[in-house]
Amino acid sequence: MQHSWSARTDTVEVKPHPTARDQAVAKRNLPKGSSILAVPSFTSALLFSEKGHRCDHCFRFPKEGSYLKKCTGCTAYWYCDTQCQNAQWQLHHKRLCKKINQFTSSAAFQGLKEHDKMDAILLSHLLSYLSTLAEPYSAGQSEGLEIFLSLLPGSSSAVGPPPVPAVNPPPNQELVAALFERFGNNNFTVHSHLNSIGHGIFPLASRLFNHSCTPNAAAKYILSSSNTVTMHVFALSDIAAGEEICIPYVDPALTQTRHQIFQITYGFSCNCPSCKFLNSIGHVPTPPTDSDQLKDVAEKLRSFVQVDNYLQSDDYRSRPIKETPSQLHCVFHETFMKGLSERFSDASHESDFDTAADTGVTLLALYLLVYPINYPQIGMHLLEMAKTHWNHSFVLSDLPEEKKAHAKPEISRLLVLARRVLGVMGTEGDADGPLEEISILENLLRT
Ligand SMILES: [Zn+2]
Ligand SMILES: [Zn+2]
Ligand SMILES: [Zn+2]
Repeated sequence: MQHSWSARTDTVEVKPHPTARDQAVAKRNLPKGSSILAVPSFTSALLFSEKGHRCDHCFRFPKEGSYLKKCTGCTAYWYCDTQCQNAQWQLHHKRLCKKINQFTSSAAFQGLKEHDKMDAILLSHLLSYLSTLAEPYSAGQSEGLEIFLSLLPGSSSAVGPPPVPAVNPPPNQELVAALFERFGNNNFTVHSHLNSIGHGIFPLASRLFNHSCTPNAAAKYILSSSNTVTMHVFALSDIAAGEEICIPYVDPALTQTRHQIFQITYGFSCNCPSCKFLNSIGHVPTPPTDSDQLKDVAEKLRSFVQVDNYLQSDDYRSRPIKETPSQLHCVFHETFMKGLSERFSDASHESDFDTAADTGVTLLALYLLVYPINYPQIGMHLLEMAKTHWNHSFVLSDLPEEKKAHAKPEISRLLVLARRVLGVMGTEGDADGPLEEISILENLLRT
């Protein structure tokens, strides 16, 4: 089947897949960091926690020294400027403005779970948008809708659509049900520097890319003036022509729960090497609570992953997850990563540098095991390690000059590694992201 979009991309083509519906395959060699596809959101909505802080249309913060402008009609939507306000007004807000407050304060809306509230808002945006279109739809308009309706419905379609404000003309109920069935499993969480800021629907990305917990590509989000958020799918590693391109639908670090998420939300089971291995373990043992035993697990993990080699040498090769020895199976218990992250973050904030440095390296080892190479979480963590080291050596303590001189190369090395990983993702989200932070620290180190 020839889609009009396929002529527009020289990166991906769709081929039959042995088990899934079909697969997106690289049309040519795609070096790591290359952009595979850019898709504007079909509809999007800010997280409730971001409302009033970011523009409801472009998701950006207001420019420095300026404030968001509130829609005077509803006082519930905020914009960075009149361009964004006008753009969203035309897109959907003109059909929603008068109704949104009554709707969000209704018992029906208030009775929804947080996640369903988000879906109700997204669905309201989408239905309002569709109601503004004059039929017959233009090619561009119908393409988004057609692709969305061509997606497989979610597995929990027994639940009806959440209540939405009435729009004029009223939407066809069959269409509403059909749209909603495709909502839960086709929502993406929009993030900036790995912090969630909103939700969006990107039909073409949903249509093209299958999931893998060891993906060779991932999504990032570009926020730009007067536009809705755009998803960019980029290559995490070099992808050869003919190779399937997969993205993670779920955080690969959810080593115990992702299984259920696939079944309940997406209705598939994942057969990636990581899932195959985790299936073969069966029950994941609980990590020890005794601190000496825990230390022993941490040491074994670091040595298995060869994290020192990663930190020091440029020809690091990651260890296949399936070779993980049985004494280390407990690291796949989700409480293990959670505990490490908490200890690392607490120790960094409490200026307990030795603990922070130690847990930081163990957490890095775990990331190298559960995430594919160049996964952004690895780079963000390397940057956090560098910042902790910098604060300890140059900000919070009065170290002798000799020790400071010693710290510099170690921090530089962490920054080199952080830049190597995060450079693959490149710029995304808000201004002044991690790549800028790396540059600032690099400059400080030179002085
Ligand atoms: Zn804006
Ligand atoms: Zn309004
Ligand atoms: Zn998997």
